[in-house]
Amino acid sequence: MHIPFIAANWKMNTTVAEAEKLVGTLLGPLSSIDGIEKVLCPPFVSLSLIKKILQGSNIKLGAQNMYFEAEGAYTGEISPLMLSELCEYVILGHSERRRYFKESDNMINQKIRAALGNKLKPILCVGEILEENMSGKTEKVIRRQLKGALTEVEATHDIVIAYEPVWAIGTGRASSGEQAVTTIKFIRNVITELWNKDIALNLRILYGGSVNSSNVTEFVSHSEIDGALVGGASLKADEFVNIVSQTASIKKQAFPNN
Ligand code: PEP
Repeated sequence: MHIPFIAANWKMNTTVAEAEKLVGTLLGPLSSIDGIEKVLCPPFVSLSLIKKILQGSNIKLGAQNMYFEAEGAYTGEISPLMLSELCEYVILGHSERRRYFKESDNMINQKIRAALGNKLKPILCVGEILEENMSGKTEKVIRRQLKGALTEVEATHDIVIAYEPVWAIGTGRASSGEQAVTTIKFIRNVITELWNKDIALNLRILYGGSVNSSNVTEFVSHSEIDGALVGGASLKADEFVNIVSQTASIKKQAFPNN
């Protein structure tokens, strides 16, 4: 376990043609970086094409969302069954889904269960908003989100958790490494309560929120942080390759036995 992990959340950016071009630029440089799991999460419409482009490479694919039903009269939705043909990972519980699409902990729980039931690995996002952070409610919020999302989910190594303080997402104002470590240690404690210590220690937990090539070392140089979920900076090929390459080499040097 603890293979470092970097995921690119392209959000609602790139047309199919632009996505094809970006993957074309990333393919060579990213493929040559070993010892780290690299996951691209483009918009749904590009998944099929990108899957073909990435075939045979060591770069993996993820979706940014999904509904929890397998099929049926849910106009406009994408099911876990459909995604399971295309990708290995799916981002769930992202703060933008919680905020703009009113996704509750309960809905995220249904999505997590449906994803795992279809052999998709969730990247579960949790994080507090600024007011919660300022008023000392971070741990309360994170505990509620984790308990809500993982209700009746059996202990599994197939989940990656991303701690993403909402105030740090897309703002250029990243958390400090120390703050992120404190909350990620807390997340491991909650996972110990919900599941068990072995899983809590081995689950991969990422930091996300304004990560770029200038600040990534502040996070990944800590053994508690297994990598990053990268939004804005993942749309710039050089920047993203740089983030992946710095993470791989730091983890290799600092934690060779992890
Ligand atoms: C994200 O969307 O998950 C994210 C972390 O975005 P950004 O890196 O742009 O803050």
